[in-house]
Amino acid sequence: MTDPRLYCDQTLSPAAEIRLGRDESHYLISVMRRKTGDKVRLFNAQDGEWVADIVAADRKGAVLHVGDRLRVAQGVPDLDLLFAPVKKARTDFIVEKATELGARRIRPVLTQRTIADKVRIDRLGALAKEAAEQTERFDLPEIFEAEKLSAILDAWPADRVLIYCDEAGDALPMADALRDRPTQKAAILIGPEGGFTPEERDRIRSLPLALPVSLGPRILRADTAAAAALSLWQSQCGDWAGGAQPRE
Ligand code: SAM
Repeated sequence: MTDPRLYCDQTLSPAAEIRLGRDESHYLISVMRRKTGDKVRLFNAQDGEWVADIVAADRKGAVLHVGDRLRVAQGVPDLDLLFAPVKKARTDFIVEKATELGARRIRPVLTQRTIADKVRIDRLGALAKEAAEQTERFDLPEIFEAEKLSAILDAWPADRVLIYCDEAGDALPMADALRDRPTQKAAILIGPEGGFTPEERDRIRSLPLALPVSLGPRILRADTAAAAALSLWQSQCGDWAGGAQPRE
C-alpha cells in the first residue's frame, strides 16, 4: 500500500508540524482511511518530497510530523499549453493530461469558434493538483484565466516558439518541424472543435515565432490533439529523454 501523496504549500523541513486543511484531512482520514501513526508523502516545488507521520487525525483535521526528505524537487520543462476550451469533460481531460505530460502553464484561449467561454479556474486547479499528486510531479501547473487569442498573440514574447497545431494539411509533421529547432521555451496551441477561422489562421502564421505543425492525416478531437502534441514535444525536446528521477 503506497503512502498517500499530497501537495503541501507549507514549508517542509525536518520535524516541521503540518496541519492539513479541511479537504486534505477529509481525503486522508475519510477517503484514504488513514489514521494516527500512518505515513504520508508531502511535496512542493521548493522543498521536494518528504515523508511525514500522522500524529493526530480527528474532526478538527489531520496533523502531520515531517520526517526525512525522500526526493529533491525536479521541475518540468518550460512548456505552455494554449487550448480553446471545449465541453467540460474534454476540458478536464486536457488539463489532467497537460499536468501529467509536464506542461508548466495551462492557458485557456478564447477563439472565434470557441463554444465554452466560461472556464472555472478553481475547479481546473483542483483537477491539476490531483493529477500532480498522482503523477509524482513536484510542482503544480500555473492555470491562467481564459484570454482572447488576439490579445495573447499581440503580446507574444520574443523568446518563445508557438507550436501551432494546424489540421489544414499543409504543415510539416510535428516531429520534422521540431527537428533542429531550439524549443527550450515553447507553447503548444490547440484550436476549438470548430477549428480556427481563416483570419485567425493568418494572424497566427504571421507571428515570427509561429511553427505550424501537422499531427497526421486524420482530424483529431481537441483533447486528443493536445495529448498527442504534448507527448511528441516531450519525447523530442522535453524531459522524456532523461527518464524518471531515482528516489534517494
Ligand atoms: N474544425 C476542424 C475541422 O473540422 O477541420 C477540426 C478542429 S480539431 C477537432 C481541433 C483542433 O485540434 C484543431 O484546431 C487543431 O489545433 C488540432 N488538430 C486536430 N487534428 C489535427 C491534425 N491532424 N494536425 C494538426 N492539428 C490538429
